[in-house]
Amino acid sequence: MLPSIFQKAANIISILEENHFEAYFVGGCVRDYITGRPIHDVDIASSALPSEIQEIFPKVIPVGLEHGTVIVRYEQESFEVTTYRTEGEYSDHRRPDEVHFVRDIKEDLKRRDFTMNAIAMDMNGKILDPFGGKQAIASGRIQTVGNAVDRFEEDALRIIRALRFCSQLGFTIEENTKQAMQRCGALIDYLAVERLTVELEKMVAGTYFKRAVDDIFELALYHYLPIFKAEPSLLKELEPVSSLAPVFAFVELKNTGITAAACTKAYKCSNQLKQQANNLVDAYHLYKKSGIDAWFVYQLPKEQWDDFVYLVKQIDQHTIDRQELYFIREKLPILSKKELCVNGHDIMEWFPERPKGKWIKDILDKIEYHIVISKLANEKSKIKEWIQWNLPAQS
Ligand code: ATP
Ligand code: MG
Repeated sequence: MLPSIFQKAANIISILEENHFEAYFVGGCVRDYITGRPIHDVDIASSALPSEIQEIFPKVIPVGLEHGTVIVRYEQESFEVTTYRTEGEYSDHRRPDEVHFVRDIKEDLKRRDFTMNAIAMDMNGKILDPFGGKQAIASGRIQTVGNAVDRFEEDALRIIRALRFCSQLGFTIEENTKQAMQRCGALIDYLAVERLTVELEKMVAGTYFKRAVDDIFELALYHYLPIFKAEPSLLKELEPVSSLAPVFAFVELKNTGITAAACTKAYKCSNQLKQQANNLVDAYHLYKKSGIDAWFVYQLPKEQWDDFVYLVKQIDQHTIDRQELYFIREKLPILSKKELCVNGHDIMEWFPERPKGKWIKDILDKIEYHIVISKLANEKSKIKEWIQWNLPAQS
């Protein structure tokens, strides 16, 4: 019996088949199923055209019609279904000039990057493997489908993907594929950097990241990685981590002269990642200045603890005790500014003679700090009294 994650999706395949189309599980889910790794999402390829899929299922979201990808909503879940396709020339090395929909699954498998990713599985678990993908998985081999140079010239992202799979799976890149990666490396510069970022993040998170780095050095591919081309040795120092935020904080804190902000800009990261990287840099400076105290723990969001512990390990080879962080957090009088029992309105009401201005925010910041370090109780009367003693002189 197939794992439960396939069973729901099998309904989609079954409905497509009832409508005289073919459909298979394809890509990462089949590879991960064969290797015994956890499967996180299931992709389906079908001979049905997007318009035909839309006719069959009542709820279809056309997410990438030009590539033949739709999302079928079925029993409150989403399934990505992509029409079998081949790709035209990649004259700009970024994206195919055109895609052609085809009715033969083998044609679709042929355009996929690596043999281990070019396996299809039907809803009963029967495998279709025209390029020896199962054998490649059994021997832990990453090998392109077809001529490696041609495939990397079509889309240089595949070079980075080979390294990413090496890092995630611990597989070895087949010799001929490796040589082609070296030969075509310069094409990485033509990629839309966002595509590179997605793969880099997965690469850095891989258990076998060190092996990928060995390959990056052997093939001198760091020349084509923004930021790291200037500081390749940092790659060797990095341990695996699930986000790029601590990686970019690390780059800044190693005194490279490259800021985390420059990294997030170079990789066109989201604002959220940018914020996280900057937070980590600030947290590290605060930690160096005053150690782990109430104010520090208050400042660092809990979701970033792991990244911070990682960062300190990377830079100082010191392991922070998470228990200590928990312990301090438990005792914090407040966890955020929202929990302060006074706000700007209270202060204006208490001091009507003073004109509105920046002093209100400044005093609220000070109140927050004193409450967090337990020098002031979070009680209105106490705070009012405290302000009277600490009011800035009026200019
Ligand atoms: P993951 O587990 O990270 O999702 P994946 O193999 O499913 O890994 P995706 O990026 O989700 O990777 O791509 C799904 C499938 O699409 C791949 O397995 C591969 O068959 C094909 N594919 C993706 N990107 C490319 C590419 N640049 N060139 C050729 N085939 C690709
Ligand atoms: Mg996938």
